[in-house]
Amino acid sequence: MEKVRIQDDLYTYVNQETLDALVIPDDKPTAGGFAQLADGVEKIMMKEFEEMSANKSYPNEYLGRACELYAIAMDSERKAKDGIAPALKNLAVLNEIKTVEDFSRLFKMLTIKNIPTPVNVGVETDMKNTKQHLVYIQGAGVILPDATYYRPEMAAQKEQLLGLWTAATKAVMAKTDLSPEDQDKYVADTLAFDEILAGLVKTNEEWSKYVEMYNPMATNEVASMLSTIDFGAILTDLFGHVPETIVVTEPRFFESFASVLNADTLELYKHWAYVKGLLSSCSYLSEELREMGGMYLRAITGVAVMSSIEKFAYNLASGTYSEPVGIYYGDKYFGEEAKKDITEIVYQIIDTYKARIKTNEILGEATREKAILKLSTMGVKMGYPDKVRAIYEKLVFNPEDSLFDIMLSLSEIRTLDMLEKLDQPTNPENWAMPGHMVNACYDPFVNDITFPAAILQPPFYSLKQTRSENLGGIGAVIGHEISHAFDSNGAKCDENGNINNWWTEDDFKRFETKVNQMIEQFDGIELPWGRVNGAFIVSENMADNGGMSVTLDIMSRTEGSSYEEYFSNWARVWCQKARDEYRKLLLAVDVHGPTLLRANMPPRNFKEWYEAFDVTENDQMYIAPEKRIIIW
Ligand SMILES: [Zn+2]
Repeated sequence: MEKVRIQDDLYTYVNQETLDALVIPDDKPTAGGFAQLADGVEKIMMKEFEEMSANKSYPNEYLGRACELYAIAMDSERKAKDGIAPALKNLAVLNEIKTVEDFSRLFKMLTIKNIPTPVNVGVETDMKNTKQHLVYIQGAGVILPDATYYRPEMAAQKEQLLGLWTAATKAVMAKTDLSPEDQDKYVADTLAFDEILAGLVKTNEEWSKYVEMYNPMATNEVASMLSTIDFGAILTDLFGHVPETIVVTEPRFFESFASVLNADTLELYKHWAYVKGLLSSCSYLSEELREMGGMYLRAITGVAVMSSIEKFAYNLASGTYSEPVGIYYGDKYFGEEAKKDITEIVYQIIDTYKARIKTNEILGEATREKAILKLSTMGVKMGYPDKVRAIYEKLVFNPEDSLFDIMLSLSEIRTLDMLEKLDQPTNPENWAMPGHMVNACYDPFVNDITFPAAILQPPFYSLKQTRSENLGGIGAVIGHEISHAFDSNGAKCDENGNINNWWTEDDFKRFETKVNQMIEQFDGIELPWGRVNGAFIVSENMADNGGMSVTLDIMSRTEGSSYEEYFSNWARVWCQKARDEYRKLLLAVDVHGPTLLRANMPPRNFKEWYEAFDVTENDQMYIAPEKRIIIW
């Protein structure tokens, strides 16, 4: 086969050999790129856990507890002996619900026991005053990956997926003490309740607009929307008092709440809660139940087998004690020299953004100053935090308990800690991601970026790579995260992360034009596994565009820079082999576009791409100058 030309398909040109050689592990939906780095970290840390456990020597008490949990999760005999009983005992509280009043009375218990309810009460940062917390309410999740799957045009796919779900769920239900007739009824009622929810909950596209979650309302107004339950009593149980304000994240759902939960639907709810509660418990029960409980998720992601018990145990333990595990990883595998170098790159990127914004045509004079202020005050978290946050002191368990009860007791500690936060200030020192996670983020409500140590490795970044490679890798990703401060969500929050309109109407109009152009650039692109929804992924595409423009600016001022190295490494970080089922799923649930497009779409907006490889209108990766978009 003839090799593709870089001018036609940068992604394939750079990655073909790697893609040919990549094998997706049986227990994973993807290989390469982010997944490959994550697998590497997993391997290193599993070995660490084994050595610590073998030597009974732990760097600190948290890692000691993590290793203890690791050992318990790995004990298949012990888990088999405990069987399904711990989960059934937990679900028994549902038997006490005879009326909707009982539901209100037992609400706190249901929350603590992780039993699903159609109203989830949580404490989160007040988006308008990010120094404090507010109570947020959210509806329930649906069985299918997104509410859009329930629309008439998706009927065939809906039927297929619900068929998979039903088969997997019936297998789990057969392990309960219910009669076969009851098992079937519970499953049928779960599907019926799910159908009620599906018509009301938000779609993933709607959730991607963060600021629209912020609908603060007086508590008595919310209580009258939730007229079938005693919301005041529920709040008093949870907080010891009735807070004045409640943020309603999905108004459409709660306006119809009385039709979701009432005397007529109570039975449906109870069976739905039982089934969903049981399914989410399976991981912590026997290996047989873990295998059954994961069947549906594996089916919709195309994964053949569940992960090994060692990987499962490691992920459970490192997830439970994630911050201490991340600090350990970062401290050992990410050096001070690299931290210094990468921090320098970050500030170079921030300064470049400042300079570019001074002459940017979207923002007017006054808004530019505020944008620069937002950049000046942006928090930068690189690598891993200095210390573990206070909650980890409290995360202690009784090793004699079953794995299920241990996980439940730890979850109860977290839930109570979250509820107590209501009257406490927020802590901007908290890290959004642990050091061993291969990811990065911008938090619009803190105005900070987080780059865990685990992403600061090749191909993203290395002291051994050239500056051009690092700019095309981690540099463009840093620029991506920073630009989220000015995307459709970030533009609505100020330098303190508060929702605050600091843009003029004209700024917004010009910005909206760019947003629409970017939607158009991606919308409707046909891939072998589906069609792209340009509006759903627009913020991420704008961020990729911003990341590229700011790093190309730095490239132009960097001595000895190589555009070939820059663009090649940009394409390399997006290298990914994925199962078709998983690709389809991502199109519906992931705000990021497919990696092939992330690699190939942004470059064609920049003159450097055309100049570096003599790209002309005869090449696939050409677009006419008037269609090229540069935002920042
Ligand atoms: Zn992003």
